Amino acid sequence: MLTRLGFETAALDAKLLAGHALGLSPVQMATHEHSPVSDSDAGQIAALLQRRLTGESVARIIGQREFYGLGFALNGATLEPRPETELLVDMAITWLPAGGTLLDLGTGTGCIAIAVLANRPDATAMATDISPQALEAAHANAERHGVAARLGLRQGSWFEPLRAGARSGEGFDLIVSNPPYIASAVLETLASEVRDFDPQLALDGGPDGLAPYRVIAEQGASMLAPSGSVLVEIGFDQGEAVSALFAAAGFARISIHQDLGGLDRVIWAHHVPPGERTAG
Ligand code: GLN
Repeated sequence: MLTRLGFETAALDAKLLAGHALGLSPVQMATHEHSPVSDSDAGQIAALLQRRLTGESVARIIGQREFYGLGFALNGATLEPRPETELLVDMAITWLPAGGTLLDLGTGTGCIAIAVLANRPDATAMATDISPQALEAAHANAERHGVAARLGLRQGSWFEPLRAGARSGEGFDLIVSNPPYIASAVLETLASEVRDFDPQLALDGGPDGLAPYRVIAEQGASMLAPSGSVLVEIGFDQGEAVSALFAAAGFARISIHQDLGGLDRVIWAHHVPPGERTAG
């Protein structure tokens, strides 16, 4: 049915959905190929197929998605982790100093902070999200990947929960975020798989799509260690505008990095302590 309706990954989708309904891993699916399926199991599979046919992604239906080689549980309040975001994780893993501290803003499933911590056993992180439900997913994912003891989760908007006294030491070495960056008016035009199933709050970047970057640029410096920096994911056409926001907020050595598709995807901006800033 999926093939007939033009789903490009029909066979894979069918295998994943059937495996999920039957509670079988991909290996078990292969080794149980000839086992009969009960009527109630067939009904389960049909129900999942029905959801896929409305355009809901396989990841949302089975409640998890692979990111940076790790499985992440999703829920209605979290964005699906995207492969494009792996570039930001690569950079964070490479550039975080030894024993460094990371702050992940709008953590969602926790995919960025957790993937970094899983690959940097020396690091610790703090992550915030405005949605308590998203933080539940992040907590479960941190437990699952054995990094919960090194990840503090705080509910609130951007830096807000940290001002309330949760911040420790001399500031973070690295602030990372994949904030909502779609202009409100553009949301309606997105593919149905995104528009109808990803949470609006995780996508909507305000009238010009840049509202979260303003908050991060304006308030980020006061949260960073003297040699700290910021890594943010951006939309393919936001490189110049976001660089300008960070420059105006006093950041220096601002660079734009491309993803595997050759599109602008990450901005890296370095903190300059107020005393060292030059005019202009
Ligand atoms: N940080 C999470 C991710 O990269 C959530 C991002 C978001 O909700 N905008 O998937």
